[in-house]
Amino acid sequence: MILVTGGAGFIGSHVVDRLISEGHDVRVIDNLSSGDESFLNRDAEFIKGDLRNYHVAEMALRDVEEVWHIAANPDVRVSSQRPEEIYENNILATYNLLEAMRKRGVDRIIFTSTSTVYGEAKKIPTPEDYPTVPISVYGASKLAGEAMIASYCHTFDMKSWVFRFANVIGRRSRHGVIYDFIIKLKRNPDELEILGNGEQNKSYIYIDDCVSAMFHAVRNAGEAVNIFNIGSEDQVKVRRIAEIVCEEMDLNPVFRFTGGERGWKGDVPVMLLSIERLKSLGWRPDYGSEEAVRKTVQDLLNEGII
Ligand code: NAD
Repeated sequence: MILVTGGAGFIGSHVVDRLISEGHDVRVIDNLSSGDESFLNRDAEFIKGDLRNYHVAEMALRDVEEVWHIAANPDVRVSSQRPEEIYENNILATYNLLEAMRKRGVDRIIFTSTSTVYGEAKKIPTPEDYPTVPISVYGASKLAGEAMIASYCHTFDMKSWVFRFANVIGRRSRHGVIYDFIIKLKRNPDELEILGNGEQNKSYIYIDDCVSAMFHAVRNAGEAVNIFNIGSEDQVKVRRIAEIVCEEMDLNPVFRFTGGERGWKGDVPVMLLSIERLKSLGWRPDYGSEEAVRKTVQDLLNEGII
């Protein structure tokens, strides 16, 4: 049995689909705080539960051999407004899970970390061995998760795969810049508010590439702790994302920029990850950032998100 935490969320539900298509028995634990029950694969066992409670984590791990720990509060903006929420859902929940794994003898964990652990890296593209100096509470919470996982692997003979994602986008995504733009334009097609000056320049990876990268790494890397960046090989500016959304929605609104180089406190304005480590194992992304953005707009419009 494989346990997927956050398996009713955007990335988690795609991981669950892939595991089930490969014939695995899958259990999902999710508190549905940002997940959606309709994303859940019907062949997965579902526990509606909260990992902030240790006993829930221990119960979910019964007969489990491997954990994909994807549950978290993924919102960088929330992390500057309510740090406690980030601490509880990202750090405490990860600690509870690791402790429950130790007690139950479960020794394999896959963890979804983030590019924000690097903070404002001066080296672009940023490789995995670049210093980690997060500038958001969210980035710090993920780095804390990575550190706890590495220590449990070395202390209690576990194995881990840690993935530092660029912006992941695609079917079922319900947060982030593309989702925000579409919602705003559905409400007011004449004007689009863009957070920051629109020059933020980041890398976006399509969900299918993200899932294929994770599975490739888990199959092909076997150290005690395996850390990989996962992203596409180029960037796209926020202003260009706004243009693509408008093109796909056939709208021509006035752009209103809130100004400043960041969209919000803790926003890293320039991000591109080096993916050479994963490429050396034979993986390549199928889509660049702009293509991923356009496909995602089409996906979300087809899903009828509002
Ligand atoms: P999401 O919000 O769709 O998924 C998170 C899921 O975790 C949700 O279903 C939510 O209900 C669940 N959850 C949250 N707190 C929980 C708790 N205490 N107990 C049980 N379930 C809980 O977000 P996502 O975009 O799919 O992100 C998935 C993971 O990938 C997160 O760990 C996130 O930090 C990481 N990540 C995402 C991106 C991205 O661009 N989407 C980038 C970097 C890292």
